[in-house]
Amino acid sequence: MTQLPYTHAPLERAELLRGKDDEVRALTMDAKARFLPVWKETHAVDERQHAMSFGPDILTRINVETVCVIFLGLAEGAPWFALAFAPEDEPPATGAAGFAGLRDIWVHTEEAFASRLVYARAMAIWHQNHPHCSRCGAKTVSTEAGHSRTCSACGHRSFPRTDPAVIMLITHGDQCLLGRKAEWRPGQFSTIAGFVEPGESIEHSVRREVAEETGVVVGAVRYMASQPWPFPSSLMLGFRGEALSTEIRRDSDELEDCRWFTKDEVLAAESGPGTLLLPHRSSISRWLIEGWRDEAP
Ligand SMILES: [Zn+2]
Repeated sequence: MTQLPYTHAPLERAELLRGKDDEVRALTMDAKARFLPVWKETHAVDERQHAMSFGPDILTRINVETVCVIFLGLAEGAPWFALAFAPEDEPPATGAAGFAGLRDIWVHTEEAFASRLVYARAMAIWHQNHPHCSRCGAKTVSTEAGHSRTCSACGHRSFPRTDPAVIMLITHGDQCLLGRKAEWRPGQFSTIAGFVEPGESIEHSVRREVAEETGVVVGAVRYMASQPWPFPSSLMLGFRGEALSTEIRRDSDELEDCRWFTKDEVLAAESGPGTLLLPHRSSISRWLIEGWRDEAP
């Protein structure tokens, strides 16, 4: 199977540096330092819509009082940072041609760089969404080089969160179970997915979500791979599951349609009018479906 998008060449996170403010400040001035601006969940791009990183001179062009500078880690001796701009800022004067969504620019982006963009956006979105203390409601400030926020009133510290979500390709012999949401482009189907709830194991979550959304009973489940998915803050946990029943009782609030597709139908996907449309190429859903499709019978 091919490697999943957004899981390539992680940075050395160097977490011991995060508490050392002076050392992190010096790293921001390192000539090799690279900065990844994130604004309103979008990324800086050049005129060809290719994602950009910037050297330390970017800090002279932006208002560092309102931008959160987040130390991401080290790669080949170069420190990497995310710059989280406030959403109410006008397009920040970074020197980029514009800003674009990750799903649109992913196709032009080298995988190791795409993995850094995902990390940067996950951190930036968390900062954007947590300006206040969850305990007392007072303002929080970025601490530990952007890896925590601390309440200015009660001192409570909060940390970036990742929400576990299960996503599963359910099979029965030569068929797989796919569903679609009403807002998707016509003809597109995807694997079943849902959030892990407090107090349940991820295996239980796989069976519960499939039963709730489709009525299908799932037996054995097998973990396949995970993918960071900060849209806005998920960690996708990918599974295969074997169906013990085939009758579909669809939850119409969740899914507009849900069907069993044969392997031949999946092989013919996107080959002409009326054929199945698969989810975005960067998604673990696509990866799960193609991995099953390409297996020897
Ligand atoms: Zn507080």
